[in-house]
Amino acid sequence: MCRAHLLEPAAAELLATELRQIVGDGNVLSDPALTASFGHDLTGRFNGRPALVVSPGDTAEVAAVVQACAAAQAPLVPQGGHSGMVGGGTPRDGEVVLSLRRLTAIEPVDRVAAQVTVGAGVTLEAFQRFLRPLDLEFLVDHGGRSAATLGGMAATNAGGSQAMRHGMMRDQVAGVEAVLADGSVLSRLRGLAKDNTGYDLTGLLVGSEGTLGVITRLRLRVAPLRPKRVTILAGVESLDGALAVLELLQSRVPSVQAVDFFEQAGLRRVREHLQLPAPFEREYPTYLVIECAGRTDPADELDGLLAVVADAVAADDPEGRRGLWRYREALNETVTSLGIPHKLDVSVPVASLPRFAREVRDVIAAVDSEAELIFYGHLGDGNAHVNVVGPAPDDLRIDEAVLELVASLDGSISAEHGVGLAKTQWLSLTRSAPEIRAMREIKAALDPRGVLNPGRLMP
Ligand SMILES: Cc1cc2nc3c(=O)[nH]c(=O)nc-3n(C[C@H](O)[C@H](O)[C@H](O)COP(=O)(O)OP(=O)(O)OC[C@H]3O[C@@H](n4cnc5c(N)ncnc54)[C@H](O)[C@@H]3O)c2cc1C
Repeated sequence: MCRAHLLEPAAAELLATELRQIVGDGNVLSDPALTASFGHDLTGRFNGRPALVVSPGDTAEVAAVVQACAAAQAPLVPQGGHSGMVGGGTPRDGEVVLSLRRLTAIEPVDRVAAQVTVGAGVTLEAFQRFLRPLDLEFLVDHGGRSAATLGGMAATNAGGSQAMRHGMMRDQVAGVEAVLADGSVLSRLRGLAKDNTGYDLTGLLVGSEGTLGVITRLRLRVAPLRPKRVTILAGVESLDGALAVLELLQSRVPSVQAVDFFEQAGLRRVREHLQLPAPFEREYPTYLVIECAGRTDPADELDGLLAVVADAVAADDPEGRRGLWRYREALNETVTSLGIPHKLDVSVPVASLPRFAREVRDVIAAVDSEAELIFYGHLGDGNAHVNVVGPAPDDLRIDEAVLELVASLDGSISAEHGVGLAKTQWLSLTRSAPEIRAMREIKAALDPRGVLNPGRLMP
């Protein structure tokens, strides 16, 4: 069977003509000056020159585009907000970008089911803005909200800081509509709470990183807004101390929904980058950002907290809370400002996080004693973001050493960002041979020509 292959310029022009008939002239880009921005990811690590960028306006157009690309054996890279960290949505030279950003419809809220159907191109921030006046909220949130689309978040099964309380994207997706590699449309948008009629195709598409289908619409769960919020920035003496705080919060503070951590080195870099004031009179080895939310004021639940942290500052107004989160959420852009980083988003059992933090330093120093480590993450999920600046972007010795350490601690080489192009070669560290074989067979069954996001997720 013929498989998708990179397009030669003449074949790309022919395909562009066909695609223009489907989506309209203005929605197919072939001029390199216009397609270039779709080929560079936020980290600077992944770059490609797409043959074309096509932006359909509805599901029927997506289906026709997929069919045309499949017939031309053109590899198709679904792209949402392009805020992903592992190169999954970044085209390689000669691939076709399928941008979903025009799919921005939001349908009326189904109040009884507490669900709403949205287009895949709606950004997380736009969705949050839509829900707030309706006294509703979406329970997945993260610092990439202004760019990340709900379709991209479903495709990567995004996590974020509230996953410890509300789960990841998969827990909030009640159904999807997706275009498969042959152009057929799979629709699971009824949002039935109970439907035990075979395989969970929604669950399969969520987290499939654009390799099994193109998500066009999603049925999302929404929750009543919890208007009372408190954010606390706390200093603690160690990551072991941070785990003691986490244990207390988990057992005594039902309203806690986020416990993120970062370190002194990261805070210094953020302060330099953004000219922010020091949060406390002295520095601490570890910092926590804790967030509680409820229908009533969560402050009373937090009484015992001050006894177990060295220092803390709290805010309950939106601006003050944003200001405290800024120290944590600016870490990503700060790291990128230092150079092209090695970004390793991993998880280990929560109790192993302090050991991982100690050993990862040794592992990195053994490869490159000059490398700078900026270490932060979502404490409640054992999710660490290991950012290493200094080593050349194509020197993968540090990535390998860190991921091997993760595997030795029974962790996962990708906690929430996915595998993309960045980690395919290490998938077998934390997924078994039978698991990878099953994944390959699913891919071959749904996309036998390898049209959708070839080379991502699996080696
Ligand atoms: C500051 C910052 C903070 C972040 N924090 C977090 C965090 O806490 N947790 C977290 O999980 N992520 C985080 N991210 C990463 C990123 O925002 C998420 O991975 C997000 O889910 C990607 O959405 P996107 O629309 O940008 O997808 P893209 O980057 O465009 O694509 C990501 C993957 O999904 C596929 N894809 C995109 N749209 C579709 C679709 N409609 N159908 C099928 N496949 C599709 C792509 O092919 C690619 O494989 C952060 C990013 C930034 C910049």
